[in-house]
Amino acid sequence: MKDKYGRTIEYLRISVTDRCNLRCLHCMPEEGVALMQHADILSYEEIAAAAAEAAKLGIRRIRLTGGEPLVRPQLHKLAGMLKAIPGIENVVLTTNAVLLKEQLPQLIEAGLDGVNISLNAMDREAYLAFTGRDEFDRAMEGLYAALDCPDLKVKVNCVPTAGREEQLLKLAQVARDTRAAVRFIELMPIGMGSMVKGIAKEDLLRLLSDRFGQPVPAGSDKKVQGPAEYYRYDGFQSDIGFISAVSNCFCEKCNRIRLTADGKLKSCLAFPAGEDVRAILRSGADPQELRNAVIRCIESKPEHHSFGSSETEESRLMSQIGG
Ligand code: SAM
Ligand code: SF4
Repeated sequence: MKDKYGRTIEYLRISVTDRCNLRCLHCMPEEGVALMQHADILSYEEIAAAAAEAAKLGIRRIRLTGGEPLVRPQLHKLAGMLKAIPGIENVVLTTNAVLLKEQLPQLIEAGLDGVNISLNAMDREAYLAFTGRDEFDRAMEGLYAALDCPDLKVKVNCVPTAGREEQLLKLAQVARDTRAAVRFIELMPIGMGSMVKGIAKEDLLRLLSDRFGQPVPAGSDKKVQGPAEYYRYDGFQSDIGFISAVSNCFCEKCNRIRLTADGKLKSCLAFPAGEDVRAILRSGADPQELRNAVIRCIESKPEHHSFGSSETEESRLMSQIGG
């Protein structure tokens, strides 16, 4: 389905939980996070019912995210349910990879197509300092387990923050040494993101070319209308990507809607408004009601995100919105 600005909406991001096993500096505070009640969180059946209606309106790709999606028990069951929906072509996961190695066989069996692994440090001390948890070894095991699955698409995502340049250079080396592209995602002023200082793309490009030489532009994710701009460094197996949602708004190409763990269907990460899909699901209403909610969500999609304006979602945590 197209929205009122002519954008084809075919991508649904589903947050399956607001809980997480890490406390990354730019995302979740150590204490004081108001967690959703268990009963408020959509069941897998409810998520699949909402996704099935969205698929009838043209949703083709689904990303599972959170919080940390792998802390929700038996996530592979949901992946399998979503893959079975007519029209859904692609189901992928965004994860910190701490629990990935043990769950990967069942996720692959369920048909998972790809995994984006969020990593912000490449040694144990720096990882502990950034995430508040001593889980570097398990995260790396998760990354290498994913790389060992030949049919699984693997990307590494990093949110570059100031003062950690040596870690960013080490992260870039993952693209040099493996088949995983590394994408640097600009810090957004959401939740804890407003308390941390990010690094501008130009400064990061300079840092990288001082170490690895001048890159060659390698295009964008045109096939999936993705927002990353890629560069290839000499001797690298994979590309380095930059996603700069705030400084270089790509809203005119936005193709996505989002379902939060507590059942709000949102047309934009940056705006609080959303359709109450949970209320519809639990009222026993006809599936047409769900479809109408998806239609209203797509029709209400704003033209762009307006970070910095009073309407935005900046006070909520990324893990609550389902980043
Ligand atoms: N826990 C999973 C993970 O870390 O991949 C999935 C959820 S996490 C909210 C999804 C992505 O959002 C992560 O790559 C994380 O770094 C990113 N993120 C969190 N807060 C952000 C912020 N303020 N600005 C930009 N990205 C942010
Ligand atoms: Fe958890 Fe992901 Fe946020 Fe880190 S970025 S605290 S892993 S939800």
